[in-house]
Amino acid sequence: MEDDKTVLVVGAHPDDYEIGAGMSILSEKEKGNKVISVVCSSGESRGSPTTRQKEAEHAAKILGIDDLIFLSYKDTSFPEMVQIIDDLKNISSKVNPYLVMTHADHDTHQDHVAVAEASMAAFKKVPQVLLYRGSFPKKEFLPNIFVMGNGEMLEKKIEAISAHKSQSQKIHPDYIRATAIFFGSLINGDNSIISYAEPFISNHYIRG
Ligand SMILES: [Zn+2]
Repeated sequence: MEDDKTVLVVGAHPDDYEIGAGMSILSEKEKGNKVISVVCSSGESRGSPTTRQKEAEHAAKILGIDDLIFLSYKDTSFPEMVQIIDDLKNISSKVNPYLVMTHADHDTHQDHVAVAEASMAAFKKVPQVLLYRGSFPKKEFLPNIFVMGNGEMLEKKIEAISAHKSQSQKIHPDYIRATAIFFGSLINGDNSIISYAEPFISNHYIRG
């Protein structure tokens, strides 16, 4: 049944998956799917961890995320790879996702890269793993899957990113809008009707 499906979303820090996959999370919720998210670190190198956790909870409410798990890794100094793999694997076997959205390793932040690498091992058995474009992408990030959104979803995504008030200087909302319009134009061309999209790299796709 469509509404029995669970999606797992992973971010290294509070606000990562909102930036990379906010519209796609809303789209999964619209389909009636359950969304569970994991925030690996509370982001203490860019603010108080308590504040940042509260902001993540607020953003999760805006996106309709059903459950939010904090792993409380030390920001910018993540544990050994084997530990991250183990933690993600344990969560995955508990929630049994049909889809995981996580970091791509085409990224310049070491925590994002660590999550991307651990995800490859931890989510091997998940039918589809989509790697989102982080806020520090490398030019090698070449998407092959686009999730289309609409204007309402885009503004809700911006609202979720803005819920991270302590990070308000990080990304201008117009940058989020421009990026969504740019990726939308890759699919629909330049058109009188604006399209919005989020780009992903599909890591593997097992058809059941
Ligand atoms: Zn991050």
